[in-house]
Amino acid sequence: MSRLRIQQLQWIGAIAVIMVCLMMAGSTIAFSLSDYLNYKRGVAEFNRFHVALHAAAAISRERGPANSLMGAPEEQQPQFIAALRNSRQETDRDIASIETHFRTEIDGSAEMRNAFIALKSQLQTGRSAVDAVAATPYHERSGARIAEAIRAMFRAADRAQDYRDIAGRSIIALAPETSAEVILTSLAGTLRERAGRVGSYVVMMATSQGDARRNYREAFDGELNRLQEVNAILKTYTPIALQSPAIALLLDRVTVNYFSGSLLYAQRVAFELNNGNPPSPAEFSEKYVPGLTSTEKLREEIENSALSSLEAMRRKAFNTMLVSILLAGTAISVMLGLVYVLGRSIFRPMLAAIRQIDDIAAGNLLQPPPMRHAGREAREMFQRLDLLREQQRLKRHLEMERKSMTEELRRLSQTDALTGLLNRRALGEAMGELLTAPRANLDGVAVIMFDIDHFKQINDRHGHGLGDLVLQRTAQILSPYLREQDLFARYGGEEFLIVLVDVTESFAHATAQRLCDTLSQAVISDEHKLTATASFGVDWRSQHAIEHWEELAAVADRRLYQAKRNGRNMVCFSDMPEDKAVISIAKTKPGGAGVA
Ligand code: GH3
Ligand code: MG
Ligand code: MG
Repeated sequence: MSRLRIQQLQWIGAIAVIMVCLMMAGSTIAFSLSDYLNYKRGVAEFNRFHVALHAAAAISRERGPANSLMGAPEEQQPQFIAALRNSRQETDRDIASIETHFRTEIDGSAEMRNAFIALKSQLQTGRSAVDAVAATPYHERSGARIAEAIRAMFRAADRAQDYRDIAGRSIIALAPETSAEVILTSLAGTLRERAGRVGSYVVMMATSQGDARRNYREAFDGELNRLQEVNAILKTYTPIALQSPAIALLLDRVTVNYFSGSLLYAQRVAFELNNGNPPSPAEFSEKYVPGLTSTEKLREEIENSALSSLEAMRRKAFNTMLVSILLAGTAISVMLGLVYVLGRSIFRPMLAAIRQIDDIAAGNLLQPPPMRHAGREAREMFQRLDLLREQQRLKRHLEMERKSMTEELRRLSQTDALTGLLNRRALGEAMGELLTAPRANLDGVAVIMFDIDHFKQINDRHGHGLGDLVLQRTAQILSPYLREQDLFARYGGEEFLIVLVDVTESFAHATAQRLCDTLSQAVISDEHKLTATASFGVDWRSQHAIEHWEELAAVADRRLYQAKRNGRNMVCFSDMPEDKAVISIAKTKPGGAGVA
């Protein structure tokens, strides 16, 4: 696998896993973020819900002192005026709060704007009607006007409930999980409103006569039925939907305080209206209204429960979002870490190992720098590679030794051990190569053969050791006078052969003469004051005239012996008659070996 592919694989794999992590985390984060934002808006919406509920309850409550005031004689009115004023102030604060919290809707929708205007004008109408009744002398107050004032206040409460429903719908749309709480909260508000109206109908009955009273009685019964229905729904569903001991306790309290207390009292008053003295509205309210508190408390408790479950959901969504981000971050970090560690401990070492194997195969046995951070298996792989490299080094070393030994053997087989010159066999090979090699326009080849004069005498006089020295020194003394391409061989016992390559005949003659002169003038051994001479025979032929080099050797040999016969220490160049053939005789001394 190539470098590119393994790295691609590594990165593609990592990127794929990271993408999957991101997608999974992204969707979870997106869901939890959207939930969180919904619940957050739900909580804000709940604030508006609360404002609307509070306003509706305030309008309901305002009817208590209003009814008392309308039903009270002048001398008792001041205390109710004060109570009503306080109650109205509270309602006004709530209405102002509605205006603030529903500002967008009121500004943005004609329907909402009209509903708000209707709420305020309805409230104003109701209050004016209440004030008008209260301002009328006690005995001139009519039941019809009192009833009308109360009904105007009912309508104002209905308008406030419009706002409660807007906010409730909005919360349910944002957080459907809170539907039960929102609906039950609204129902608890309705329970308070209905209970209030039941009381108001009693006041209306008490302050009217005849048909009007009968009509109110019907309305009272109708309201009572609705109240019972609302209560039945609340009692059926609340304990299941909201499993809260506090709410269960309040439901019981509503039953005890209101249904078994205030409501029974209201019913008794309603039944006994025609027999005897009914209580004044103020007396009635005083006994009736405290029982309503438990319905308000119930509504508040359900509302609190709704708010806290909404806030719990918001917290949960936020935590889910945090956990998702953390998990995704951890997963991605772990993945990146894994890629880094895998890259460092496996992939990179693997690529390095491939390079090292290539190097070993190519013969590069240099020790590479150590691979740090490689994994355990990778380190073992590098140890094996080191071993392989070491074996290859050993093999190479042995190979070199073998080569040098072969070379030495070859050299030894071609060399004369005493003089270091070519031996006869090597000379034969070299001549074969020389003459078969394609050479353009060689001037010619000369063979010079020479034999130490009276060598036997040297051996005899000085011993074979010195005889050997003469042979060695002869080679040493004459070698410097030859060129690189010339061949110099020991041909026999004290007989030498020189081949001059690419020379003219005259150059060959001059060289032979110089060799003859040089040897005769050289001192073989200072210690023994020994000198030596030799006799030379030369043959030269142009390149094309040579068929077998041995022919040249034979001619040179023949001429050597001619030189011997002619007196030694001389060069013989031709097969001319003996006296003419010798054209050069060493001039320094007479032929032969001797002690200088
Ligand atoms: P000439 O001038 O006619 O050549 O006389 P010569 O004495 O040199 O020739 P001859 O053939 O009579 O003697 C050659 C001697 O060389 C005989 C032999 O013992 C000796 N010889 C041959 N090879 C070696 C060698 O390697 N070392 C020594 N020391 N002597 C050798
Ligand atoms: Mg000799
Ligand atoms: Mg000889």
